[in-house]
Amino acid sequence: MSVTLDLSRVSGAAPAAKPLINLSGLTRSQMIAALTESGVAEHGKARMRATQVFRWIHHRGVTDFAMMTDVAKETRARLAEVFTIARPEIIERQVSKDGTRKWLIRMAPGIEVEAVYIPSVGRAGALCVSSQVGCTLNCSFCHTGTQALVRNLTAAEIVAQVQVAKDDLAEWPSDKDDRLLSNIVFMGMGEPLYNMGAVADAIEIISDNEGIAISRRRITVSTSGVVPQLQALGEKTQAMLAISLHATNDALRDELVPLNKKYPLDQLIAGIRAYPGISNARRVTFEYVMLKGVNDSPDEARALVKLIKGIPAKVNLIPFNPWPGSDYQCSDWAAIEAFAAILNKAGYSSPIRTPRGRDILAACGQLKSESEKVRASALRQLSMAAMAGVLDDDEDDEAA
Ligand code: SAH
Ligand code: SF4
Repeated sequence: MSVTLDLSRVSGAAPAAKPLINLSGLTRSQMIAALTESGVAEHGKARMRATQVFRWIHHRGVTDFAMMTDVAKETRARLAEVFTIARPEIIERQVSKDGTRKWLIRMAPGIEVEAVYIPSVGRAGALCVSSQVGCTLNCSFCHTGTQALVRNLTAAEIVAQVQVAKDDLAEWPSDKDDRLLSNIVFMGMGEPLYNMGAVADAIEIISDNEGIAISRRRITVSTSGVVPQLQALGEKTQAMLAISLHATNDALRDELVPLNKKYPLDQLIAGIRAYPGISNARRVTFEYVMLKGVNDSPDEARALVKLIKGIPAKVNLIPFNPWPGSDYQCSDWAAIEAFAAILNKAGYSSPIRTPRGRDILAACGQLKSESEKVRASALRQLSMAAMAGVLDDDEDDEAA
């Protein structure tokens, strides 16, 4: 496979010399508070000023206060003294021959995150973002699970992944026609429901029509099943829900997704049924990684149909992506097809996707200078790319 590598930095923004407050990645109400507290906004004008600035940053994508032409010159100068809107550093950018793009972004020293854009999924294309560096959970088939949690990402760091992608795709302003980036999936590193505050704030900015303007129903949050947070996720974000199921009985799920010991299947299924806004138009996605001889038999497919009966759902069968040291193997293609056929017959859409961007992800796995952590996340992203196929089948779609 041919590989197109471009190691140039797409954002030239240098890290700030003195600690400036990052305005990029604040919600509108947080921005009002920041402008008021800093004394930059004139008394009584904070709301209006914040809306202007918010729009410049999140709708038009500017990275320099000087571009904010409807803000008085002195105010722009004051803003630049106190705040920053610079992008984080892009360490690497790769483009696959199939159009998949991947960025390795350094948010802070030791805080490196990947975001992957996959074209032709969802309405136009989807960006897979991370919510944490590392993960506290230890799903046995997941490479991220072998890394300790480094830390939660902030809302600004989650939004920055979208901004970097939009810079590179030339997607500003956000209401541009024929957008390439139409969907967001929280399927990168980390468990989003263990970082709810930042994830909810990021979704507020991403979905705000004065901001990045991607409809909440085109934003999907994937969770391994943090049942007590499901209600809050639905209420706070109105995001689409994806559940990493992977097994149909507690004994096996305890092994694959150890969080199951805390929140077993009956609790998980009850939590999903109660997810706010779930309907035929807003179906839940069940992710099911295909592990040879472990969870891929026709009996398991039938058990899956039984388990999710009555839930408006689709099932995303993910070919297992092997990583060094893992004992699992990916199911044979015939087994995956037979599994999918049982689901289809029962009325569940169950797309199987050939992984996208294999060429660049493989290349990334060979990075020499990067830490073990980064290599691990690169490998994980391969499955992300595979899974974004979940967005393909029902993009009917209403306006954002
Ligand atoms: N922590 C969240 C979101 C990130 S993981 C969650 O678990 O849902 C996104 C998806 O990738 C999950 O469904 C996860 O189970 C799956 N995944 C992890 N490792 C994988 C691998 N090696 N091969 C295929 N899918 C994998
Ligand atoms: Fe964490 Fe998700 Fe990987 Fe499990 S599958 S270890 S929850 S990132």
